Amino acid sequence: MARILVLSPHPDDEAIGCGGTLASHAAAGDDIHVIYLTSGERGSRVLKPREAAYLREKEAEAAAGVLGVAGIEFWREPEGALMASASLVRRVGDAIRIFAPDYLYTTHIAESHSDHRAATRMAIGALRGLPRPWPVMRLFEVWTPLQRYDFVQDISRHMGPKILAVRCYASQCANLRYDEAAAALNRYRGAMHNEGGGEYAEAFLEIREAAEKSSGVAASQLLERRLAGAEHGAGPGVCKT
Ligand SMILES: [Zn+2]
Repeated sequence: MARILVLSPHPDDEAIGCGGTLASHAAAGDDIHVIYLTSGERGSRVLKPREAAYLREKEAEAAAGVLGVAGIEFWREPEGALMASASLVRRVGDAIRIFAPDYLYTTHIAESHSDHRAATRMAIGALRGLPRPWPVMRLFEVWTPLQRYDFVQDISRHMGPKILAVRCYASQCANLRYDEAAAALNRYRGAMHNEGGGEYAEAFLEIREAAEKSSGVAASQLLERRLAGAEHGAGPGVCKT
């Protein structure tokens, strides 16, 4: 049984970006915990911020039930102003230390939404402050598709729960059809990038420590290079935008 920790900038990113993969983890009996960094209080055209946050937290609880997520928590940082501050990096580091995940999921650094980029920086900053071995980090796509990726998960058998989970965020799907957008991107990944041939897939930038030296470069140096690339949007794994 693996331990899975997700840093979701807003309630809905976990479902849109990696909901199928989370459902596949749950099917394997893995223990999944999601931290919502903000509660998305600016995500409604009709509700006041407090009401919108309350509603989105309720939607997150429903989505967690659909995906098989065992634990969720809300940090209620300000939406649209999320920063990888020293205190938040420390808090993420504490969460990683305490939960001890095998896999850490969050959004990638080239995302168009600044909160999503802040989440990447937070995760990488937190890892740098922790002793190795680190969890395998998988960075997912929501607003901005990855130009390069390292890992593709076939989610064909989990599309039902994924789309149901995205639709739990009814307040958000009323703004944009995230369910249709996610299904379309996952179908594209399935057709173009899933070498196993599955219909639907999710793509990730994956950062994990290599087991051995490669071309004379130590594993720890390779890991640092990969991390720097993921942090700055350059180098292996992700193209500069
Ligand atoms: Zn988001």
